[in-house]
Amino acid sequence: MLCRLTLVAFVLFLSFTGNHRPAHAADLLIGVSSVDITGPRGYRMSGYFNERLNTGTKDPLFAKAMVLKQGDTKAALVFCDLIGLGSPITGEARKQASEKTGIPAENIVITATHSHTGPLYGGALRNYFHARAVAKTGSDPYETVDYPKELTAKLVDVIIAADKAAAPALLSAGLAKQEGLSFNRRFHMTDGTVVFNPGKMNPNIVKVAGPIDPDVGLLLVRNKDGEPVASLTVFALHLDTVGGTEYSADYPYYLESILREQHGDGFLSMFGAGTCGDINHIDVSNNVPQKGGEETKRIGTALAATVSDKLTNLTRIDKPSLAVKRAVVQAPLQKDDDEKVAWAKKQMDNVGTRNLPFLLQVEATKILGVELYREKHGDNLPIEVQAFRIDADTAIVTLPGEVFVDLGLAIKKASPFKTTFVIELANDGPGYIPTEKAFKEGSYETVNSRVKPGGGELMVEAAVKLLKELKP
Ligand SMILES: [Zn+2]
Repeated sequence: MLCRLTLVAFVLFLSFTGNHRPAHAADLLIGVSSVDITGPRGYRMSGYFNERLNTGTKDPLFAKAMVLKQGDTKAALVFCDLIGLGSPITGEARKQASEKTGIPAENIVITATHSHTGPLYGGALRNYFHARAVAKTGSDPYETVDYPKELTAKLVDVIIAADKAAAPALLSAGLAKQEGLSFNRRFHMTDGTVVFNPGKMNPNIVKVAGPIDPDVGLLLVRNKDGEPVASLTVFALHLDTVGGTEYSADYPYYLESILREQHGDGFLSMFGAGTCGDINHIDVSNNVPQKGGEETKRIGTALAATVSDKLTNLTRIDKPSLAVKRAVVQAPLQKDDDEKVAWAKKQMDNVGTRNLPFLLQVEATKILGVELYREKHGDNLPIEVQAFRIDADTAIVTLPGEVFVDLGLAIKKASPFKTTFVIELANDGPGYIPTEKAFKEGSYETVNSRVKPGGGELMVEAAVKLLKELKP
């Protein structure tokens, strides 16, 4: 009798826990998908200040989506081989994807890897080139395809496809270290100024003006049979190594190619840009040329060696506890008087030429970029911060803009999670987001920023608050 009662109680206990399992015990489902988003042939290309027309494709560009589901919680992370994304496109794509999948729009993030060899499809510079073409001939011969519209539809489709593919999966996470590939590009000079990219072996360099972040954030997705199907690599190194007029995903292309040699052609390697607003690949301590396809391959191959060394050796996430939180920080937008805006409009004819010093070209384009935000948002730049908890030890933070490395490092340092990935260029691209210290120092990135000093620090505060709220 006692025995039978115990058995009944045990069965009851099992069915009770089965129906009322705490969220962390629910199965984690993951789906991944990718879609080709290569720009049209002949379209303008992004990355620099001159009008640069595409001549073909070195390697195709992709948007890659990962959908995670656990119990009632759903999230989607999308990574695009593009220089950046604007909130009109990501807002629309998130809204439509949410309606079709049930994933809340606040739990969807769409990020750009910052490839400098993708299409130029928005922003002040594109608007100027486009208006100039239309004024000349009545139409824009380089925009025969509505790329932004096609991109939006593809972003929706790739999230739907990843959602449909969601199946029980095993997730592992961890960090690798990558030394020797990334360099802070800002330097204190003998004349007391701070300069970005001062040139190789420049004798006037006194010392570097900031740190790097050597951490490589890694996630590995395996299917229920334990086979690796996808990975996420987060690394803080500007994707401007290949240049030229052919489309390319830059060094993450080699990372994926090498991981596919190891894990099969269907393996998807997603790349999240770490906070690399002031980080690039130029080593000023030598005279070795560092631009073009061979350099891209060297960097991608070195990073792939680091990634594949660690990827199948990460800590398995045994108790996933998926959760997402989001905040929007209203960061004060820079303001120029009417006279300065009129100056900027007039100077656009000289952008991409030798008729105006480079930093003035940057400033003119930036001022018109600020005006685009001002028309839409008034005096504040809305900065959306999202935080995704994977388990009690692992979280991902996403931020808009090209974020200075110090800001990402500050988030990681203050995070209550053992491992925190910080990914920039999420959902919007309001130019550079420098530190207050960098604003005082000046140079290219601060000229090319739309936020007022302090906006970056507000963003860090918001991210850390979300992480603390998510920490179990
Ligand atoms: Zn860049």
